[in-house]
Amino acid sequence: MNQVLLVRYGEIHLKGLNRPFFERKLLDNIRAALAGLDAAVRFDQGRIFVEGVAAEHVEEACLRLTRVFGVHSISPALAVEKEYTAVAAAAESVMEASMKEGGRTFKCFCRRADKTFPMDSQQIDRELGHDMLERFPELRVDVREPQIKLCVEIRDRAFVYAREIMGAGGMPTGTAGRAMLLISGGIDSPVAGYMMARRGIELSAIHFYSYPYTSERARDKVVKLTELLARYAGPVKLHLVPFTEIQLAIYDRCPPKETTILMRRLMMRIAERVAEADGARALVTGEALGQVASQTLESLCVTDDAADMPVFRPLIAFDKDDIVNVAKKIGTFETSILPYEDCCTVFVPAHPVTRPSVAGLRASEAAVDFSEMIEKARAEAEVLEVN
Ligand code: ATP
Ligand code: MG
Repeated sequence: MNQVLLVRYGEIHLKGLNRPFFERKLLDNIRAALAGLDAAVRFDQGRIFVEGVAAEHVEEACLRLTRVFGVHSISPALAVEKEYTAVAAAAESVMEASMKEGGRTFKCFCRRADKTFPMDSQQIDRELGHDMLERFPELRVDVREPQIKLCVEIRDRAFVYAREIMGAGGMPTGTAGRAMLLISGGIDSPVAGYMMARRGIELSAIHFYSYPYTSERARDKVVKLTELLARYAGPVKLHLVPFTEIQLAIYDRCPPKETTILMRRLMMRIAERVAEADGARALVTGEALGQVASQTLESLCVTDDAADMPVFRPLIAFDKDDIVNVAKKIGTFETSILPYEDCCTVFVPAHPVTRPSVAGLRASEAAVDFSEMIEKARAEAEVLEVN
């Protein structure tokens, strides 16, 4: 009996001629995720098989696989010879483990991909059901809502399993090009980055800090959030850009009620330049419609106007509660709520504009020559490879 992880993929099935490209990428990403666990990863007829992982590392391997985008679900299985007695012995061992978890009702689900196997799937189900009831007298069959789904797949070998662990879904990272995430220390932007990476995007990230108005700890928090994101998104190139001079210039020389939105425009301008140099084709933010004054429809139009690249806002229609739920699921929430100040909160005006106009903000921005400050900020940026 061999331990095997059966890995199913989701949306890639819908692909046409370029499906092998997505499958190869997924395989590469799975191999990278399982590095150090001696895993042999193989692809066969729409399924991925992971073998060679030691029994004590199976749970760790499953956990890592749940973070690989493109994986629909994972089943730790026993692989045996295509022979009924071997299947029954494996089923017994799988059943024993499931009963230890508390399961007492079951149903058999056999799929026979290899039609040369002498019993058809219904025969296997019947026979196996009978054998299990005999072996474990406390078991009952429940065809409607079984606690244990005892699955058998007859392929090049027979695979027996009862667990199905849900994966992260989405598309393999690296199949959709690169985008630049504007990451603050808040709850929203890491979730936005996660959602874009889930669609296959590779991420670069940029953070603006206003030392000494924001602390070293606020910066560390952003590095930490990027690390948490990299568990899913793969390596992220993080640009840390000093923003104090620009922020003070806005604060001193522009209308107070426009400071936040001007700051957002300048962030977009700088992010776009850095993105171009990084080979990124779009910007990503954590904005959600109506969440704050700088995220009204009018404000978003003004922010958009500062950049030529497309700006993706995957959280645009999310309620805060929904965003928090995703942040908790992906493990960024606890870090995001650490109470270190962000540059947006330090300089926030008492009465921000909620319905700014593009023409009005262009004029306010043109009143100050930011070009040298932008170049200086870029030149002084620090770049980290976050893994
Ligand atoms: P978050 O929870 O992501 O901080 P937020 O609701 O606090 O978002 P804002 O502070 O208005 O919203 O920021 C909106 C978006 O602008 C953020 O989601 C992020 O993409 C970007 N952003 C804000 N501050 C910074 C910063 N200091 N560096 C980089 N990007 C930022
Ligand atoms: Mg914020």
